[in-house]
Amino acid sequence: AAALYIVPTPIGNLNDISQRALDTLQQVDLIACEDTRHTAKLLSHYQISTTTWALHDHNEQYKSEQLVTRLLSGQSVALVSDAGTPLISDPGYHLVNSCRDAGVQVIALPGPCAAVTALSAAGLPTDRFAFEGFLPAKEKARLDKIESLKDEPRTLVFYESPRRLLDSVVALIAVLGDERRLVVARELTKTFETIHSLPAAEMLIWLQQDSNRSRGEIVLMVAGYRPDSDDELSAEVLRTLALLRGELP
Ligand code: SAM
Repeated sequence: AAALYIVPTPIGNLNDISQRALDTLQQVDLIACEDTRHTAKLLSHYQISTTTWALHDHNEQYKSEQLVTRLLSGQSVALVSDAGTPLISDPGYHLVNSCRDAGVQVIALPGPCAAVTALSAAGLPTDRFAFEGFLPAKEKARLDKIESLKDEPRTLVFYESPRRLLDSVVALIAVLGDERRLVVARELTKTFETIHSLPAAEMLIWLQQDSNRSRGEIVLMVAGYRPDSDDELSAEVLRTLALLRGELP
């Protein structure tokens, strides 16, 4: 039956694709992708010859209508992005929304996602987390964003570009202090995969020591705010001392 299939693709290691994803890409009438040349490499690796169709952020709304028309006429479509799970900091929202409005079935396949992969190896609490996508590029907006997350108790997960990693760590230190634990996961599933965990101030020094440490694709994670952390405790102790002092003769 005609349906829109959301198909995750590898985030580096080409073997990270499910049999079901490959079967789906083989069987659908059309693959909607961010970049047809990029997706062509994956398809040729797996000898899949399905027609591709470009759907990126700039034309998504307009192209979605055309895809919905095809779906309503009985064609099946797979949506992929350049890497990982479509719609997670990637195009697809308008298309899925339009399909739901039009009564077209949407079937999501589970698969690779850099945020979840990073989180599962970070050693930070994972019972609750907040995925924040990319931090704003402009300094003021970035600081405001971090400020709004200052007291967030959940583990924070950001996507980060190598060019901006240092600036982001500086901004995190400015707002959250030296001690907040950061984890930098880079090049996941690839040859130079590294996952490094340090308090923020030490992370800045570690990154500054070797520019290779900020290269490639990066997930930046931040421990959630803990009211019982040392900073808070000493503030509490100081408050209590001040009160006691007031009571003394
Ligand atoms: N849809 C993708 C997913 O499910 O992870 C994310 C797309 S987003 C446009 C691209 C960003 O994801 C990169 O800038 C980087 O922050 C992160 N990313 C993607 N692949 C990664 C990898 N192999 N290692 C670390 N981060 C990665």
